[in-house]
Amino acid sequence: MLTHDDSNIMTTVSNEKLITPTTKEPLVSEVFKMSNDLGNFINKKLNDTYKRLIFDMGPLKPPGPFPKDPHQGNMSFSESYIFQTKYGPVNRFWLCYYPLLDATYCQPCWLFSLQRSTWCTGLRDWKHLSERIKEHGFSKNHIEACAVYEMWQKNINIDKDLENQIRKEASFWRMVLQRLFDIIITLATNSLALKGHWEDLSPEGYHGNFLSVVQLVSRYDQVLNQVLEMPKGSTRYLSPTVQNEMIECIGNTLEGHLLENIRASPFFAIIMDTTQDIAKVDQLSIVVRYAAISRSENGQPVDIKVKEVFLGFYAVTKHSAVDLVKQVITLFSHKNLDLKKCVGQGYDGASVMSVNKIFDFLTPKVLRSIDERTLLQKCDQFQSKYSDVIGPNFSLQFLNVYHLTFPELTEMCNVYQLCKDIITKFGVMEYDITEVFMAILLFYTIPVTSAGAERSFSKLKIIKNYLRNSTGQDRLKYLSLIVVENKAASKLDLSEVIDQFANIKARKRL
Ligand SMILES: [Zn+2]
Repeated sequence: MLTHDDSNIMTTVSNEKLITPTTKEPLVSEVFKMSNDLGNFINKKLNDTYKRLIFDMGPLKPPGPFPKDPHQGNMSFSESYIFQTKYGPVNRFWLCYYPLLDATYCQPCWLFSLQRSTWCTGLRDWKHLSERIKEHGFSKNHIEACAVYEMWQKNINIDKDLENQIRKEASFWRMVLQRLFDIIITLATNSLALKGHWEDLSPEGYHGNFLSVVQLVSRYDQVLNQVLEMPKGSTRYLSPTVQNEMIECIGNTLEGHLLENIRASPFFAIIMDTTQDIAKVDQLSIVVRYAAISRSENGQPVDIKVKEVFLGFYAVTKHSAVDLVKQVITLFSHKNLDLKKCVGQGYDGASVMSVNKIFDFLTPKVLRSIDERTLLQKCDQFQSKYSDVIGPNFSLQFLNVYHLTFPELTEMCNVYQLCKDIITKFGVMEYDITEVFMAILLFYTIPVTSAGAERSFSKLKIIKNYLRNSTGQDRLKYLSLIVVENKAASKLDLSEVIDQFANIKARKRL
């Protein structure tokens, strides 16, 4: 493990006087030669010139593979920390890795943070890295360092007073936004309206849920209290317009993640439904369904889950089947979803899927009663029907699995248990039976109402409920997304939402 002792620290911004470098400053040519690997700079003082050189070389993100640490269960750093969250892709520009010490660090904090932490000297806690990253992304020092980093990016002449002012403002407003976004998400995911009858913060009267909660929190929280103390008319992010912008921003971030996950899956199915809202307008709701394999930390398949993603409400103007199809095609191309990956569509309520028998080969009851020749026939039939997504090796691969699982099929077991058994027990040979895995994913994706238990369209139930209580107007598009996708919404990384909000604000200012 690295020592996190301050003697290992080589740089600081405005407290430069406090640090006594143990070796002389590196030469400019040396800096270039050494690249920007932090490991080379331990105990070296960096002044603004060197910082600029390192800065211009960009954050250090070498490609893997990364060494596995036997003292930490063979875990290692991974590129996925930089580019992936559980909910979709991100780009943590600040997260770097230096090969010399096999450790991760934060580029802005290394260069600009006033408080030294392991994120400046190197961190090797692979076991808890996800949590450490999340926690760091929100820390005051990091936010301040990122603000200075951003200023350097814009090439603004660096002046220590300006730098300090930027630090202070950045962290204050980020803290404000963090609280406000948290309140909005909490209210929206609980289907609570944000607005009240009086949109002001006069001491009397009813303020609506949003402002009431802001006031409540401010009684215990210095940050929000300070915002409420500001004179009326100053930017406080409390107006209804800003609330709408914030909702839009949450909705956009959320939708981005959900779409990214759909795009990453090999195929999906579309489930549609029309429901009248309270204004008697027919609203088409669209849910995309796909299946995903959950994995343990070391990548072993542990479960298979159906995911349903709500894509929003769309007012139906023409009711013919052809028009509905047109509407769906336009929508999917708009959202950059490849309709070639669509393996089925369903209309809620009606079991339009006549694929009942095609998945017979996965049903233990059927498997117990047929011979190998019939099974092979069924597999071939299935493969030729789905030859777009299932390869020709499927039948052979499935027969192998069948021979290995057959003894257990005599026990009572349903189709879902069998599928789960296959993906967990044969996880190690996943790459030898990829077509079997694909077939199972396909089975979970297609909304069949056969082959065992009926699956309920849970999302559509929430959606219908929502429509019975509000109108599906355009301005509610994002709110409905947050309500329906509340689980994903409550897990959103707020720092990412705030980044988006800051971008929107910056664009509007231009
Ligand atoms: Zn940082």
